[in-house]
Parts: sequence; C-alpha cells; structure tokens
Amino acid sequence: MKKQQLTIALSKGRILKETLPLLETANIIPAEDIFSSRKLIFDTNHANIKLVIIRATDVPTYVEYGGADMGIAGKDVLMEHGGKGLYEPLDLEIAKCKLMVAGLKGAPELQGRIKVATKFVNIAKRYFASQGQQIDVIKLYGAMELAPIMGLADRIVDIVDTGNTLVANGLEPMDFIANVSSRLVVGQAPMKLKYRQIQPILDMLSQAILQRRSAVEVG
Ligand code: AMP
Repeated sequence: MKKQQLTIALSKGRILKETLPLLETANIIPAEDIFSSRKLIFDTNHANIKLVIIRATDVPTYVEYGGADMGIAGKDVLMEHGGKGLYEPLDLEIAKCKLMVAGLKGAPELQGRIKVATKFVNIAKRYFASQGQQIDVIKLYGAMELAPIMGLADRIVDIVDTGNTLVANGLEPMDFIANVSSRLVVGQAPMKLKYRQIQPILDMLSQAILQRRSAVEVG
C-alpha cells in the first residue's frame, strides 16, 4: 500500500537547534540544511515525510486545523493554546525551562488588583485565578523584563532558563507556574487516519529520547 504523506511542523528558533539532532537520531533527516535556507517546507530522507518550519506559537494551530499532521512545540506554547484538537503523546525532554512569575527584586507583596505583563495571556489569567488574585493582563510580544522597570506592570509571566535575563534587569523569580519542555503533538484526525505512518515515528522518537537521556546522564 502506498504510504500517506505526513507533515511535521517544527518551531523555528531556539527549539529547532535541539529538535533537529533528536529527529536525526530518530532517522528523520532534512534533505538540505534548514538553517542556511529561506525555505519553509523541507523534504526529508523519507519520501512521505515533510517538515515545515513555522513560529512556535503557530505550531498547535497548524496541527489543530490539519495544516500539519504532527508538530513539536514547547509546553508553554501548548498551555497558552489550550491543546484543543491535539494529542500530546511524547515529552521530548528538550529545551527545558520554567514558566515563572517575576517582579522587581525586593518588591513588596502586592495587595488588591495587580497588573501583569506577558505574552502568555491565558496562562497568566488561569494561574492568578487559581491563586485568587485579581489581575489586569497587559499583552506584550517580547522584552517582558522591561515592563516592571518602566512601571508598566507589577509582575511579569515569562520563561526562565538560567535566570540570567531576570538578574541582568534587576528582577527576581517569585512564583513557579510550570516546568516546560518540548512536546510532540499529533492532530486527532491523523492519529486515527494515518496511525500506520505515525506509530513508527512515535517509536523512533521514543528510542531517540531514551538514547539522549542516557547520553545526558553519562555526560
Ligand atoms: P535565561 O536568561 O537563561 O533565564 O533565559 C531567558 C530568556 O530566554 C527568556 O526570556 C526566553 O525568551 C528565552 N528562553 C529560555 N529558554 C527557552 C525555551 N526553552 N524556549 C523558548 N525560549 C526560551
């Protein structure tokens, strides 16, 4: 039987550098160098598998609406999207970081309604609601760290890895929201209709995750 076409959406930027070696270990290899190309769609060593390279925040949307069968995106992006129409079968254990609330170092505890700047509007609303804290969310697209310094917001919700960016801007992490790592997502329709194609990829990626885990433990 002829193999059905499969499209995997990858998040460009920081995550991509860690995603490609994992895909390579799982024997999914782009036909040309993604980083030196301006193309958005790439063939691979498998005639039926294509990769598309898009913004991280667009990956769940593409998979939800069937523009791609599978995708790789950070848990932060998936939490913000809400996960509608997606299965999340694998934690790829790459691009690990944390979602945190942060504020100016030494800032006092806040009373009443507070202003929170973030690009993670839904996550911030859900988190502060769970704490019984009323907030006004200010949506930003980048450089969240600047918002408390400029008096735009009392707190930010942002991704923290080493914490160096916070420290360099006079901020400190305050509350932990969630651990983040990259996840494989699969659309609900392809999971049923293309399972024969998808299942070996899940197996190969699971093996690749185990190999990487033991390499990290040894190294
Ligand atoms: P750091 O100074 O190491 O805490 O890194 C903080 C900045 O790096 C954040 O503002 C994020 O924009 C970015 N960052 C760190 N880790 C990740 C990740 N896994 N995925 C996406 N962005 C990240």
